[in-house]
Amino acid sequence: MSLDVVLLGPPGAGKGTQAARIMADTGISHIATGDMLRSAVREGSPLGLRVQEILDRGDLVPDDLMVELIRERLNDDGTKEGFLLDGFPRTLPQAEALDRLLGEVERALSVVFEFQIGEEAAVERLGHRAEEQGRSDDTTAVAHHRFEVFRRETEPLIAYYRTRGVLVGIRADRTVNEVYGEIQEALEQVNGRP
Ligand code: AMP
Repeated sequence: MSLDVVLLGPPGAGKGTQAARIMADTGISHIATGDMLRSAVREGSPLGLRVQEILDRGDLVPDDLMVELIRERLNDDGTKEGFLLDGFPRTLPQAEALDRLLGEVERALSVVFEFQIGEEAAVERLGHRAEEQGRSDDTTAVAHHRFEVFRRETEPLIAYYRTRGVLVGIRADRTVNEVYGEIQEALEQVNGRP
């Protein structure tokens, strides 16, 4: 059985950091929609040109574009063992589309990790990342806006996945090792892995 995981949480919660650890231990494919969009912007592809301003503002890219991106990516052979979705879904229509896509290939999510962190702690982390990586959407003003977008558009997914019995809450305002320990425990219960 494949290990199909979603990381859900606001910007600055540490999803990318934990994703790297999960991948190293499980070998499943990391699908980070923010990374995919940023590389499209860097390449200047038609998709990149379309989404650049949206990313800079900290708004969400339209659902139909995102669902198409994920549909193509999930069809890759590399996801047979499982996938780690980082940054998708971010809206209810995206979550419903994901359920449909998985249903078509008789797969279902193994677990959805909900990264819990307050706005101040998250925005402070993004400030550090802005210094290290220079991401144009990590400035304080845009970071607060992205948090607000998370509350409005993405937070409803917590109830959506809780109802489906796949949600596991993770207290994300602790050290990388502590957070990863909690994730590992949950993964062992889900699948006997890693
Ligand atoms: P991230 O790296 O996950 O923080 O994503 C960076 C930016 O990419 C977000 O602020 C959005 O503009 C865009 N983005 C990434 N994933 C999605 C998604 N699933 N739906 C809409 N926009 C997205």
